[in-house]
Amino acid sequence: MQSCECGHRKLWVNCCLPIIRGERQAITCEHLMRARFSAYVRRESSFLIRSWHPATRPPQLMIDPDIQWQHLEILSSKGGLGEQEGQVEFIATYLQDGREQTLHELSYFIRLQEAWHYFAPLPMPE
Ligand SMILES: [Zn+2]
Repeated sequence: MQSCECGHRKLWVNCCLPIIRGERQAITCEHLMRARFSAYVRRESSFLIRSWHPATRPPQLMIDPDIQWQHLEILSSKGGLGEQEGQVEFIATYLQDGREQTLHELSYFIRLQEAWHYFAPLPMPE
C-alpha cells in the first residue's frame, strides 16, 4: 500500500486528506503535525493558514517553490484527547537545489475551539 506523505501507512484519502478538507479533526497534535506536513507537500496553503493559531498566523503563506518536502519523522509528541496543549518534535527532510536538508523542530500546539492549532516552534531542549 502506498503510504501517505505524512509517513503513516495509510492511503492519503483515508489519512491526511479528510483533515486537510476539514471533514475530520486531528485527534492529537501529532495528527495535525502530520496533516500539516502533507499540506506542505501538496501546497495546501489554506489548510496551513486555518490550522495556524490566530495569534501567530501569518497573513498569507508563500510555500517556497524551490523546496520539495520529502519525509517526516516524528521523534516525540505530547497532546492528545482532552488535552489543551501539546508538543511535537520532528525531523522533516526536504530537497533544495538538489541537496537534501533537514529541519529539526519542537513545535508547540494549542487546542482552540476543540481543534488543534500550530502555535510556534519552542527552543530545543539542551
Ligand atoms: Zn497522512
